[in-house]
Amino acid sequence: MHDLVYHGQIYDVNGLRKATIIIEAGKIVKVKQPDTSVKGEVTINYLENPNVIAFPGFIDMHVHLRDFKQSYKETIDTGTLAAAKGGITVVGDMPNTIPRLDTLNTIEERKEIYEEKSHVDYYVYSAIPRNREEIDTILSLELVMGIKLYPPDYSHPNLLASLKSLKKKGKILVVHPEEKTMYKEALDLVETLYVRPVNAEHWAVIHLGDIIGSNNVKVHITHVTSPESLFLSRRYGFTVDTCPHYVLFDIEHVFLKGCLAKVYPPIRSMQDRIRLWSLLRNGYIDAVSSDHAPHGNAEKYCCPSTCPAGINGVEITAPFLGHLVGLGEMRIREMYRYLAYNPARILGLNKYGVFCRYCRGNMTVIDFSGKTVVDPKASPSKTNYSIYEGFVFFSKILATIVGGQPVYHNDRLEPMVRGVSVGEFENK
Ligand SMILES: [Zn+2]
Repeated sequence: MHDLVYHGQIYDVNGLRKATIIIEAGKIVKVKQPDTSVKGEVTINYLENPNVIAFPGFIDMHVHLRDFKQSYKETIDTGTLAAAKGGITVVGDMPNTIPRLDTLNTIEERKEIYEEKSHVDYYVYSAIPRNREEIDTILSLELVMGIKLYPPDYSHPNLLASLKSLKKKGKILVVHPEEKTMYKEALDLVETLYVRPVNAEHWAVIHLGDIIGSNNVKVHITHVTSPESLFLSRRYGFTVDTCPHYVLFDIEHVFLKGCLAKVYPPIRSMQDRIRLWSLLRNGYIDAVSSDHAPHGNAEKYCCPSTCPAGINGVEITAPFLGHLVGLGEMRIREMYRYLAYNPARILGLNKYGVFCRYCRGNMTVIDFSGKTVVDPKASPSKTNYSIYEGFVFFSKILATIVGGQPVYHNDRLEPMVRGVSVGEFENK
């Protein structure tokens, strides 16, 4: 008996078509012409609904699932359930945890929690390793897909050794682009626009282009907030992603939303937002990530000068892009490239992002005639606030399938489902 059989429309590199997909032991074993006589332990049939489309499982390249000493903000358990509800089947977790992911020990500890608790597939980025002698070992781990570079680390004494090792292992450097010497901490939210300016982002890309360009390392610039950063990144051959909040909000919303809109890099001017929006809808970005950065509810409802920066959005990225496709604002091809195909290619994953034989059995099934009303109180995430509260996106996640198991289907989460490390699956 097959573990899961899906009948219905699918979309990937071969375009939109009707098919039957058969998944066994975590892998796709067959993609064939629609054949409803095939049945599985779980059979999902949307053949009769022209508004429902299944994609290779979506990948969020940038989340902060906290845990460790910040389990009150979010845990790998709650964060991956929220991801599943949002149609995300793979999360890329950032290393600014407490303790920081910059030693072999902490990464091993992280791995144990992921193996035990994660409801979707996963990988982590290491920070620049603290001990030079651990760099090669850390980057050899299947769990670690690359290094995240934060502004204070642009001049880290282990940066060059890390670049050398990244090149050797074929892994990526993901960069938070803000030139540290060009910004200050702001006292209030609106001041942020001036003391943490957008050209600190442009200069960071140039600075990194100069350091890294000659080292031949794969570089990905995350959460770009302006078209100039994108153009500069292209000059150096870097890939980029942006986040929904940089195309949905600008400085006016910062007045209205207060701490809920506090995030680094900050929300920009209306001009930057609209120009970035136009690039996004026309397919010029490489990927869209959430930069899901949850905080304690009391912390986020506090005072503008001291509330922590970060927007929690792992659940809304896919419904938001689905909304744009449904409205005819963006082509379905772009949604697929941003959330599945490109993230897999950027990470060097061949068994993700497409429907192929022996690829991972991950799928995101979307109803483009459905609707998602954002209600943070109903979220499996630990946060009960959201800048998107009350937003209505005209698309709905019907099912999130991880390794052939529905972790979310028909408005229900199945918390028994566990994901695997993408690096481990890839090397099998
Ligand atoms: Zn982040």
